[in-house]
Amino acid sequence: MAQLQRIAIAPFQIQENLITLTKEQQHYLRRVLRLRTGDRFIAMDGKGKWWLAQLAAEQAQILETLTVETELSVAITLMIALPKGNGCDEIVRYCTELGVTCIAPVLSDRTLLNPSPQKLERWRRIAAEAAEQSERAFVPTILDPVAFTTAMTASQGNHCYICEGRGNYPHLNNVIKSDPPEIVIATGPEGGWTQPEIEQAIASGFQPVSLGRRILRAVTAPVVAVTLISANCQV
Ligand code: SAM
Repeated sequence: MAQLQRIAIAPFQIQENLITLTKEQQHYLRRVLRLRTGDRFIAMDGKGKWWLAQLAAEQAQILETLTVETELSVAITLMIALPKGNGCDEIVRYCTELGVTCIAPVLSDRTLLNPSPQKLERWRRIAAEAAEQSERAFVPTILDPVAFTTAMTASQGNHCYICEGRGNYPHLNNVIKSDPPEIVIATGPEGGWTQPEIEQAIASGFQPVSLGRRILRAVTAPVVAVTLISANCQV
């Protein structure tokens, strides 16, 4: 099955055992992937379901439902204070490949960017492409940005961490308990978190953690954090 091409479809495109393909999907399957009528591909709904499908005229026939076991055992919510420029594109792409469940952009004291609806749309598209590429069953959810304070109040739980490069905090690798069901991890912008933000996070139950003695870029830190969590969950 590994060599079959994959495309993401919306659940409403399926009726009975037929997938109605959009013009863009038909173009992508026939012109970009060079598939012909009768060729097989994998359709995924981004919500855990995969189907083996066969290309027909403007539709595809579902041949069978497939089992996918590529998800981590832990649900990771990555809270990111948005970096400058297109840095978030890379974070979304790499963290999707690594298995993140949800990306929650936050507007922090030193965040320069308040993203446009087009940027959000772009990140959601990148997440869908990266999920297809990495054979994920789920496309991570990219939430609308909210203020840091709102995000902190909404995410109180047992396994919430905030990455802070300065200070004598324990390494993330040493604090992750084996196989928690959910983890929330927050990483800051280029200028870092402010002291009041760190204090508010602690008050909301977030544990400050280190990712090592070197200061990582705002784009590198989330990738390292998600890598460490996924390595500890061993899937
Ligand atoms: N200007 C900040 C400073 O000098 O401390 C550095 C900010 S860093 C570029 C961006 C974010 O990445 C930080 O807010 C933090 O969340 C995370 N980060 C970078 N290096 C880290 C480390 N060694 N340990 C924990 N978090 C780190």
